[in-house]
Amino acid sequence: MAQEKCACPACKCSVDSQSLEKDGKLYCSEACVTGHADGSKDCGHDCECG
Ligand SMILES: [Zn+2]
Ligand SMILES: [Zn+2]
Ligand SMILES: [Zn+2]
Repeated sequence: MAQEKCACPACKCSVDSQSLEKDGKLYCSEACVTGHADGSKDCGHDCECG
């Protein structure tokens, strides 16, 4: 199976056990789901998408 990536454009994380879904897209964290719109920081993983 292809590994799903977080739908957050700047996020490099893969989504698996922690995936969250919104509008048919998968995100790795709540921060990414919101598009960091509320000023939330990085997704909490090892990237700088925040
Ligand atoms: Zn990330
Ligand atoms: Zn993400
Ligand atoms: Zn993100």
